Amino acid sequence: MERILTDYRYMALTADSAVTAAFKSARYAQSPFNRVSVHRAKFDKWLAAKAVDAGAVLFANHKVETLLKEHDKIIGLEVGPPVNKQFFAGVVILAEGVNALLAERAGLVPGIKTENVALYVKETMALPGRLIEERFNLQPGQGAAIGLLGESTANFMGTASLYTNKDTIGLNVGTYVANFVTGNFNPHDLIVKIKQHPLLAPLFTGTETLEYCAQMIPEGGYEAIPPLVHPGCLIAGDAAGLVNGVQGLNLAMLSGQLAGKTLIAAKHKNDFSQRQLSLYKRLLDESYVLQNLRANRHIHRFFAARPWIPEAEIAVINEIAYQVGMIYPMPNGAKRRYIRQKAASIQPVWKLAADFLQALWVIK
Ligand SMILES: Cc1cc2nc3c(=O)[nH]c(=O)nc-3n(C[C@H](O)[C@H](O)[C@H](O)COP(=O)(O)OP(=O)(O)OC[C@H]3O[C@@H](n4cnc5c(N)ncnc54)[C@H](O)[C@@H]3O)c2cc1C
Repeated sequence: MERILTDYRYMALTADSAVTAAFKSARYAQSPFNRVSVHRAKFDKWLAAKAVDAGAVLFANHKVETLLKEHDKIIGLEVGPPVNKQFFAGVVILAEGVNALLAERAGLVPGIKTENVALYVKETMALPGRLIEERFNLQPGQGAAIGLLGESTANFMGTASLYTNKDTIGLNVGTYVANFVTGNFNPHDLIVKIKQHPLLAPLFTGTETLEYCAQMIPEGGYEAIPPLVHPGCLIAGDAAGLVNGVQGLNLAMLSGQLAGKTLIAAKHKNDFSQRQLSLYKRLLDESYVLQNLRANRHIHRFFAARPWIPEAEIAVINEIAYQVGMIYPMPNGAKRRYIRQKAASIQPVWKLAADFLQALWVIK
């Protein structure tokens, strides 16, 4: 664990301003902790060691070349060098991540669609812990998670986030692959722009880049989830499209656990039929994994149908906040009328109201 997250912020950014919503609580610092930041390279090794301690055999640095099929049933998999071996199993749990090529080639899932996956880039920067605490206004050992919207994703629908670790800060940003196809920019441009933003740049002063990576995230929501139970195979984690907003790792872990429970039940009954394996889908349906994704199922379409939101509506709230803060030599009534006109010149009031009401319905 790197830091206990006690400070959650969202910044709606324009080129020179930000309206920030922030919440911080000392209660988040109490065990059991609500959210923590982890360094995946360390965390994944720690978690894999737990599985090995429990009896799993780990093949790190091996590639699964293909799934083995008999008629329509998955019966095992073939692992490439250095082990070069076929493994046979009653059931394969496939957790190969977002770019599920094994599942796709075996005809278990459709190919990914550019409007359902987002491409993220991530930079990890070294900064002494004491400076992190000073810059982010944190107690020792505590951390912040900051979501960035608007200008940070070139005003396309997407997000950027800033996380504090022990002595590094992580910055990631991404948007739907379809936006990179149609827009005239690449993911690296976004990260450079954020680091140069006048309100954010001071946070990065004197940092040293340690890591840089790119990774997709399935963001198609509930409607884009492929069939998860197949003869001889269960699909879990990102390969199953189980990402809900900022939650992905926990859904991947819980879906893996539920797939494991399904296998234990199948083994007890010595029944590996698809009917028995459908217990996995039932357990997911009963868990917060699919219940939350189902509850949020209209969000993806809501934003896809309103591409103006990240730019126009974030510009409106920033303009209102800016004008409220300005001192004008005029009575308050006249100032309010002036602010209304300014806001309406960016986005008509009826459109703002319609989006707001629709948003309330979508997140009901
Ligand atoms: C920038 C970024 C920030 C994120 N932040 C958060 C966050 O704050 N909170 C959160 O909950 N989630 C977050 N996520 C999402 C989270 O990382 C994923 O949801 C989670 O890692 C999914 O786990 P998984 O095991 O399904 O897939 P992965 O973690 O992608 O693991 C799949 C593994 O399978 C391996 N693999 C693939 N094909 C083969 C093959 N043929 N043979 C052998 N191995 C193979 C891959 O190399 C990989 O190691 C973030 C993702 C990104 C990209």
